[in-house]
Amino acid sequence: MKKRHYILISAAAIVTAVALFAAWTSQATATRHQATPSPVGAASSREALVNSLQNSKTVSLSVIRSANWSAPLSGLINLDNPTAQRAALTNTEEPIQIYTYHLQHPEFGDYLIDTGVSNEFVDNPGTFNVPAWLEPQLRFDRMEITVNTEEVVNNIEAPLQGIFITHLHLDHVSGLPAIDNNVPVYVGKGEAQEKYFLFAATRGIVDALLKGRPELREWQASYVDVFNDGSVFAIHSPGHTAGSTAYLVNTPEGPVLLAGDVSHTAWGWNNQVEPGNFSTNQPRSRESLLNLIKLVEDNPQIQVRLGHKEL
Ligand SMILES: [Zn+2]
Repeated sequence: MKKRHYILISAAAIVTAVALFAAWTSQATATRHQATPSPVGAASSREALVNSLQNSKTVSLSVIRSANWSAPLSGLINLDNPTAQRAALTNTEEPIQIYTYHLQHPEFGDYLIDTGVSNEFVDNPGTFNVPAWLEPQLRFDRMEITVNTEEVVNNIEAPLQGIFITHLHLDHVSGLPAIDNNVPVYVGKGEAQEKYFLFAATRGIVDALLKGRPELREWQASYVDVFNDGSVFAIHSPGHTAGSTAYLVNTPEGPVLLAGDVSHTAWGWNNQVEPGNFSTNQPRSRESLLNLIKLVEDNPQIQVRLGHKEL
């Protein structure tokens, strides 16, 4: 009887400890870095974006594949989605790519969308608060950097004017160590403040990557005309994270949609299946995916680039 009593008390203690730990971790935001409304960019609309496809200023866009990497398919695609189930997808390890995009605006200068991967981050993860236990999860051993962010920045002649981040996950901000601390960093609305249990593991790292930089600049509208000339639009596409943002860039070769991690993979985009368990809100993520697919169906001249795979 006594033994049973002891087991019950132990079980209660374990449950309490787990509950306390869950409560603590669920409080973690993406970063403790401060954010402020962006002083640039004008609130716009889908209609204005569509009008810009025919008639607007253009900016040059370079797509840079910074690294080859891999991730479990369950993170990239919602394997519980009925379409994924019908296709009998299983949780294999999937080869993916990490991109950065260089924008050159004729008047306002040079920008990056997402940051690629810097050598400094991968070579010295401890400097950026990456705990030793997390390193295997980050799969550095499977990462092959093809163009490091140091090289990307060196190849741009003028100083960068800003970094537009699709979201604050590590594979999108790990190039920051190669970028001058004074360059403003722009994120989607609510990105810094969202709470999610997995952020307990990564918040310290994002904080370290942002340390010494100005306040994050948050887009304030669902559609933002970034330079107020119709050349580039930020499209709030929440779900993967609260502030996830896609970018529509009008280039001399035609409009390009940088979808970010609204869809990591071509399979997900082509089959209308949202990303998997790396997302904080899958139903919202699905809405954002369908919203972008509709935009491209209605305007087939838009070329699409996805978060981690070629379409
Ligand atoms: Zn990603």
